Amino acid sequence: MIELNLYESVFAKMKNFLCPAQKSLPRARKSRAALVAEELEALYPAAECALSFEGDPFRLLIMARLSAQCTDKRVNQVSEHLFAAFPDVYAMAKAPLSEIEAHIRSCGLYQMKAKNILECSQILVEQYDGKVPADKKALLSLPGVGEKIANLMLGDVFGDPHIVADTHCIRIANRLGLAASENPSQVVKSLEAIVPKAEQSSFCHRIVWFGREICRAQSPRCADCPLCGKIESKNHLSGRSKTKSVT
Ligand code: SF4
Repeated sequence: MIELNLYESVFAKMKNFLCPAQKSLPRARKSRAALVAEELEALYPAAECALSFEGDPFRLLIMARLSAQCTDKRVNQVSEHLFAAFPDVYAMAKAPLSEIEAHIRSCGLYQMKAKNILECSQILVEQYDGKVPADKKALLSLPGVGEKIANLMLGDVFGDPHIVADTHCIRIANRLGLAASENPSQVVKSLEAIVPKAEQSSFCHRIVWFGREICRAQSPRCADCPLCGKIESKNHLSGRSKTKSVT
């Protein structure tokens, strides 16, 4: 059981809150990541992408673009209507911009997202034979596609696992001392160095679930955190003592 006093509970709402169980984790970041990954896998053995893209790379690309500053639940709802109207890349490339906007309005930033979706679909049709490219550089050249979306596509569609530094990943990696930056690219670099390549995509999916359910941005459930609670009790049983802070 992790104890969280009133001060920690208030501090938890602040940006630089560190996990109160850090002292129980191994000092070496690679060992620390391995332990966190092991416990996350036990908690979420089958964690997958929360976007319902039905195995269709084009859908995932569009849904990932819609997910900026929007919940996955909302993206799943909105996408159902969007793809009912424009079921594939060819239909989307010919869609009137105003109709795409109308479908995705509730996702926020809808005008920019609609513009990106239309232009991206047109480029896929004109330059890639209607297919989503499996190459990171090509993905990054598409409108609205940054490293987070490109890495998600590579891992979930093209079998090339990558770190996806979304808001949950950035927050939790910092709290647990696996990264020390709010910058997504820096977090990707930090985690790439300590999470085995083959596990990177599933590690990130698990972190998303953990961030939603337990290690939330506001009011993390430290008092009954299964991840750190388990790590602490393991240390207790093995008589291991970790009192030094992590750098
Ligand atoms: S919820 Fe768990 S992992 Fe997150 S800060 Fe609290 S104890 Fe640490």
